[in-house]
Amino acid sequence: MPELPLTLYRAAWVLPACGDPIRDGAVLVGTDGLIAAVGPATAIEPPEGAVVDDLGMAALMPGLVNVHAHPELAMFRGALEDLNFRDWILRLVGAKRAALTDADFHAAARWTMVEALRSGITTLAATESSGASAAALCETGLRGVVFQEVFGPDPSQCAESMDGLREAIDCLRAFECDRVRIGISPHAPYTVSDDLFRAAGEYAVAEGLPMAVHAAESHIEHLLVQSGEGDFAPGLRARGIATPPRGRSTVEMLDRLGVLRARPLLIHCVLLDGDDIRRVADSGSAVAHCPVANARLGHGVAPYTEMRAAQVRVGLGTDSVGSNNRLDLMEEARIASILHRGRLGRSDIMPPADLLRLCTIDGAEALGMADTIGTLEPGKAADLCAVSLAAPHARPVHDPLAAVFHAARGTDVILTAVGGQVLYRDGRLMTMDPEPLDAAMTDAAARLREAMT
Ligand SMILES: [Zn+2]
Repeated sequence: MPELPLTLYRAAWVLPACGDPIRDGAVLVGTDGLIAAVGPATAIEPPEGAVVDDLGMAALMPGLVNVHAHPELAMFRGALEDLNFRDWILRLVGAKRAALTDADFHAAARWTMVEALRSGITTLAATESSGASAAALCETGLRGVVFQEVFGPDPSQCAESMDGLREAIDCLRAFECDRVRIGISPHAPYTVSDDLFRAAGEYAVAEGLPMAVHAAESHIEHLLVQSGEGDFAPGLRARGIATPPRGRSTVEMLDRLGVLRARPLLIHCVLLDGDDIRRVADSGSAVAHCPVANARLGHGVAPYTEMRAAQVRVGLGTDSVGSNNRLDLMEEARIASILHRGRLGRSDIMPPADLLRLCTIDGAEALGMADTIGTLEPGKAADLCAVSLAAPHARPVHDPLAAVFHAARGTDVILTAVGGQVLYRDGRLMTMDPEPLDAAMTDAAARLREAMT
């Protein structure tokens, strides 16, 4: 990467996420892409040769960290509306197999990077079967983790699934760099056998690979684990796969199988009781909270405040646009606070300062990246996003945090930078041309519709 210009950003507000908002603030970014200084603009003189970039009536804050998305599935936005979860996932998997190719997944992953940059997301954790996001992250300059999915509900498939996973990881490791990490994701209890969970957990620990698992998302998953019954059971039995009870809960099952030893990122965790929360906390596992997707699919609202009270690391994820249907982390945070206030009958939880941390440093901690990103502090990477507060819907600004999270939207982002490199500015993408993606996505969506009718 070429050396970056020494840049002094000024903004009406700087929101460091590790301290109070700074009125008329400034952030100095060094040529090494690291933050050199943060403070009031009056206290940071531009060094000789520095570019001064005044963002005006905007809030400059750490880049947003989306801890759970499925970039390869961007063409599913709006295609799976109002279905029950079993039909939702069966239709998704069926159409994916029948209609889509690797080229489609690569186009969708790049499309998702466009969306991410336009809404201030600088770090993206991708869970997917194609691994397409590894190249997309590298090309576009975003930071992220790619969790390569592995499936196999039949215990007899375990060795074959693990061989395929090792092969995929060996290929994806070519994309690893200081911005991009590769991990694994045994998908979920209804698609992964006990043997495969055990083997994947051992592999993750032995290789030091980050791991993510969809866990405790739905009642039908819970029924399958607890009693071997529910809507997933007949389909598995029809394939000759036994469905014995596997545990008191998904978390208890993952603990029994040694999966929690890998300190995984547990995606969803809607259905956790006190014992489950203690197991997650004691194991040092993290949680990806996806409130919009959980509510839209009718799964419920995860016990976020209870998990945080138990010191569990919890980041915020949008999940796939096939269930959300947006990739807007600021909106995700706003809806999270509204859902939890409604759930608990309280107006004093998840204030905007907590939402800023949830979207930044909490996500960084959930992904094990808090030493590098998540706050505006000297020495950390200059992963930045700036949200304009100039539009009528964002004004007046009594409190910049409330303005960002309860009035502004992802579309108000005017600057996204990773490691000091500006990737998006005022409607322009610096590292990619979205034009060719348009035709590819339109074509993939048409084939998808055909396959689903
Ligand atoms: Zn997911």
